[in-house]
Amino acid sequence: MNAQIIDGVALSNTIRESLTQETLALKAKGITPGLAVILVGENPASQVYVRNKVKACAQVGIHSVLDQHPSSLTSEALFKRIDELNQDPSIHGILVQLPLPAHINAQEVIERISPLKDVDGFHISSAGALMTGSRGFWPCTPYGCMKMLEHIGFDLKGKHAVVVGRSNIVGKPMALMLLQKNATVTICHSATPNLKEMTLMADVLVAAVGVAKLITQDMVKPNAVVIDVGMNRDEHGKLCGDVDTAGVGEVASFITPVPGGVGPMTITMLLANTLEACTAMHA
Ligand code: NDP
Repeated sequence: MNAQIIDGVALSNTIRESLTQETLALKAKGITPGLAVILVGENPASQVYVRNKVKACAQVGIHSVLDQHPSSLTSEALFKRIDELNQDPSIHGILVQLPLPAHINAQEVIERISPLKDVDGFHISSAGALMTGSRGFWPCTPYGCMKMLEHIGFDLKGKHAVVVGRSNIVGKPMALMLLQKNATVTICHSATPNLKEMTLMADVLVAAVGVAKLITQDMVKPNAVVIDVGMNRDEHGKLCGDVDTAGVGEVASFITPVPGGVGPMTITMLLANTLEACTAMHA
């Protein structure tokens, strides 16, 4: 492999150390940052994700509440719980783990969270803030990707960034963040006719698709920086990204691994957003 690996675990640990210091400073003033994580139903992957988030809170000293509900929970009951948490002064961030059961409208639930506590950055007011370049919470996954680019000292100004994927939680906010840093941005999706033609133009390529090893060596410009957001299972059931890491690693200058890349950074930025919410509330 020629490319340098951007180690998301190591970078996360460094950031979490400084978040721990920030938490200690808040606690010294009698303020304990708090995050509520709401889980509805028994989705096994969601259970793992929420456990990891709660564990990460403990690691940096953030108080967390894991609010578990059966999949039969009604929308009204969920709204009522969010209203309570919106009012709870010990809670600074509220996260509703997605996906929700089919009978609950996820967007309505997200809109119910106070924008001041929207640490996932999915509320329409956070999305609007990102769109207009105003202050607001950035969605954790693309925020983590930006931190990785910052870490390697990559100046986006004048560079061509290509984002594959246009979801509201990764692709679109990623493109806006890159744009804010003065990159020229192309967004690709399932209706993009010649994906390779697009990806070959990328100085920075972000893959957020959900298709195992979609991005192959021949699709990447020499010395490009490649950020792999995907979390998929390969033909052997092994965790892998959207990028064929071995092949692409031969041509890229930097590459993020899966696992150990964007995944840990996502949780770290959730912690950072929670501390930011707490600090803003007590300013
Ligand atoms: P979505 O399914 O919401 O979006 C996938 C996007 O990829 C869509 O915009 C879709 O296009 C596009 N797409 C699908 N197939 C192709 C294709 N063949 N060529 C080009 N574009 C394509 O997924 P998410 O954004 O939620 O997640 C993407 C991946 O990132 C997943 O693997 C997910 O597990 C992972 N993920 C990882 C996180 C982490 O912390 N590491 C956090 C969040 C997600 P269209 O809009 O046209 O349908």
